[in-house]
Amino acid sequence: MRAYSIHTKLVILLGNPLGHTRSPAMHNRLFEKMDLDYLYLPVEVSNEDLPTVFAGLRKMNVTGFNVTIPHKIAIMDLLDALDPLAEVIGAVNTICIEDGRSIGYNTDGEGFIQFLEATLDTNITGKRLFILGCGGAGRGISMTMASRGAARMFLCNRTASKAETLAAEINAKIRPCAETIPHSRSEMRKALTACDIFVNATSLGMHPHHEEMPIEADLLHPYMAVADLVYNPLMTRLLTTSRRLGCPIVKGHGMLVHQGALGFRLWTGVDPIIDEMFQALNLPVN
Ligand code: NAP
Repeated sequence: MRAYSIHTKLVILLGNPLGHTRSPAMHNRLFEKMDLDYLYLPVEVSNEDLPTVFAGLRKMNVTGFNVTIPHKIAIMDLLDALDPLAEVIGAVNTICIEDGRSIGYNTDGEGFIQFLEATLDTNITGKRLFILGCGGAGRGISMTMASRGAARMFLCNRTASKAETLAAEINAKIRPCAETIPHSRSEMRKALTACDIFVNATSLGMHPHHEEMPIEADLLHPYMAVADLVYNPLMTRLLTTSRRLGCPIVKGHGMLVHQGALGFRLWTGVDPIIDEMFQALNLPVN
């Protein structure tokens, strides 16, 4: 175990509950491996205690934070500044203390895109995307994809109003590239034939509902890559089916690692060894 001191820089994960978080294992292994005098600690905090706990932690040698459910929105009011993308998304998952000021970022969408680009050996710019699911994760991913230059984005959600609101926000605040698709088989089929990448941003297929498929198999085609945000199980039914049909696939676990890698870079100014982060979580690198 390394010797911590008053000089050790702290990175704090704020959330509730945090009993199952694997982020400390990932970051602390890398701090150790790269000989960086940092320590990553999870701190469970209730909604009502968030302002007091955050203010107290700011008095310590804290260089950054991760923020997870349920504080990603509430934390924004406590920060000195927001990165423009985090402001548009309306949620913060990473905070960096820069010259004594707390700056909020959202690295979820960018983490997803970086893993997708690495896995498919491609660039998101100019691509046509179908995003099924406009909850918190779908929102962050679509907004980041729009800001990264996606050509066209089809947004589809069981509750249609959420997709409509999101598309309107993207078109007004980022770029006019989003349109909504009704959650019906025939409408989805039409849009999917014109797509390069399909993203499942719903929770369908997640443990213990392994048998669930977010779309029917005959809507998939081999000219379209398929990405799943669900990472438990690692190979969802959607991914197994897509691979069998010849579609390139992107698993959900890479987003977890790459959003963490972006935070690591913000806190330390150093590029992380990403493969080591996958290994710390006992996950494959692709
Ligand atoms: P969320 O805000 O609760 O959104 C859930 C989404 O799933 C909504 O779009 C919801 O549609 C849709 N949905 C749920 N049940 C459905 C059903 N039976 N039929 C059709 N649509 C259904 O959750 P989230 O935070 O966005 O997370 C979504 C998924 O992404 C989860 O599986 C989560 O584990 C995963 N995720 C992965 C990572 C990663 O690092 N890989 C990070 C974040 C999230 P309605 O709006 O109609 O309810």
